[in-house]
Amino acid sequence: MGKYQVLNPATGKVENEFPSATDTDVVDALAAVGSAFEVWRTVPLAERTAFVRTIADIHEQRIDDLASIMTREMGKTTAEARGELQTVISIYRYYADKGPELLADTPLDASIGGTTWVRKAPVGALLGVMPWNYPFYQVARFVAPNLVAGNTILLKHASNCPESALAIADIVRSAGLPDGAYVNVFADNEQVARILADPRIVGVSVTGSERAGAAVASVAGQNLKKVVLELGGSDPFIVLSAKDLTPVVADAVTGRLSNGGQSCNGAKRFIVAEGLYDDFVEQFTASMAAAVTGDPTDAATTYGPLVNQAAVDELIKQIEDAVSKGATLRTGGRQVDREGSFLEPTVLTDVTPDMRAYHEELFGPVAVVHRVKDAAEAVTVANDSPFGLGAAVFSADEQEAQRVADQLDVGMVFINRREKGGADVPFGGTKRSGIGRELGAVGIDEFVNRKLMHKL
Ligand code: NAP
Repeated sequence: MGKYQVLNPATGKVENEFPSATDTDVVDALAAVGSAFEVWRTVPLAERTAFVRTIADIHEQRIDDLASIMTREMGKTTAEARGELQTVISIYRYYADKGPELLADTPLDASIGGTTWVRKAPVGALLGVMPWNYPFYQVARFVAPNLVAGNTILLKHASNCPESALAIADIVRSAGLPDGAYVNVFADNEQVARILADPRIVGVSVTGSERAGAAVASVAGQNLKKVVLELGGSDPFIVLSAKDLTPVVADAVTGRLSNGGQSCNGAKRFIVAEGLYDDFVEQFTASMAAAVTGDPTDAATTYGPLVNQAAVDELIKQIEDAVSKGATLRTGGRQVDREGSFLEPTVLTDVTPDMRAYHEELFGPVAVVHRVKDAAEAVTVANDSPFGLGAAVFSADEQEAQRVADQLDVGMVFINRREKGGADVPFGGTKRSGIGRELGAVGIDEFVNRKLMHKL
C-alpha cells in the first residue's frame, strides 16, 4: 500500500489506506487534464459558472459526511469542520456569481488609436499542491476561481487526507464537469516534479510549509512556470490599549486555538503594551488553560487533537528549547495523558530571539506573549519575523492603530478585530509567507492570460 493513509489523530488508529499513483496513473492524469482544457476553455462562461454553482450545492447536500471525513482525518472539531464547509460553499458561489464581472474585458484608453482592451483568457492545466489543515477550504480557494476562469486542475492533496481528496473529486464529477476538468492524483514528491515539468501544466499553486513551497517553486522555476505560494505564518496580535480587555482576550484565545492552533494565519505572537501586559497575561493564561481539549466530535470540545504525534513532539521540542533558555511557561507544555495526539494549551512569556519559539512558526495551541513599551517597539517585534502573512492591531486610538497597521510587513491587517476571512476578501502574505493572493477579485487574476486586444 502507498502512504496515502487516514490515521485518526484522536485515536492513533489507521482507518483507511490508498495506493499511491503509479507512473501510468500520472501519465493518464496529465493526458486527461491537458485534453480537458481544450474542451473546458470553449464551454461558455455562463455554463462554467453553473457547473461551479452545482459544486457548491453538492457540498451543501453532503455537509455532514464531508465534515466527518475531516474530523477523522485531521482532528478538527465537528463544528469547525461544518464552519469550513460553509465557507467553501460561499467561495464556489462567490466565483459562480461574480465570475462574469471579474473576467469582463477591461477597455483601455490607449495612445495608439483604434479600440484597445484587455481580455482575461484561461491559461491551461494547473497543478495544485494542498495541505491537510483545511482540506476543503484550501482546495476551494484554488479550484473555484480557476474552473470559472476556464483552467483545468490536477490536484495533489496531502497524503493524510485522501478521503477528503476523493470526496472533492467525486463532487466535481457529480456536478457533471467534462472528464479531466478536475483530476485527483495521489502523487509522491518526485511525481509532482515530473508533472510540473510537463509542458501541459502551465502553473502551480502550493499551500503548505516553506519546505514544500521552496521545493515545488524551484522545479517551477527550472521549467519557467508561474507559482502561487501560500506558506507559513507567525501572525502578530498587537494590543496597545483597550477600553475593555475581555473581548480582546476572547479574540486572542480564539485566534490561537481555532483549528487546534493549526492555521497559517492563526494569532501566534501576542505583543502587548506594558500598561496592559500583566492583566492580559493573567486573563489570557486563565482562558487558554480553561480550553477543553478532547473528542473532536463532542460539542463541548474547544479544540481537538493535533494532526499527528509528530506535530505534538515538534511543539514540545520548541517549548522545551524556550524554557531551557529562560522562557516562562505560564500554562501547558505537556502532551495530554490520553490516547491520541493532544497537547495542552500553552502560554510562554519572556521569549527572546535566541529561542526557536521567537522566530519559528508554532503550529499548534502554543502562544508567545511579548511585553513592549510602546507602539514603535510593537512594530519592531512584529516585523522581526521571517513571515509576513497577517496581523491584528488593537488600540482605543484608531489613528495609532492605523499608523501601526501601515508599518507592518504583512499581507493582511485587521484593526480592532481578530483576522477574519471571506470569499471576497483577498488572502496572502509577504516575506516567507508566500507569493500571490487567493480569494476576492485578485484571486482569479493569478492564472489568467491578460491578453491585450486591439483593432483599428
Ligand atoms: P506540507 O508538509 O508542506 O504539505 C503541504 C503539501 O505539500 C502536501 O500535499 C505535501 O504532500 C506537499 N509536499 C511537501 N513536500 C513536497 C515536495 N517536496 N514536493 C511536492 N509536494 C510536497 O505542509 P503541512 O504540514 O501539510 O501544512 C502546514 C503548513 O502549511 C504550515 O506551515 C501552514 O502555515 C501552512 N499553510 C499556509 C496557508 C496559507 O494560506 N498561507 C494555509 C494553510 C496552511 P505530502 O502530504 O504527501 O507530504
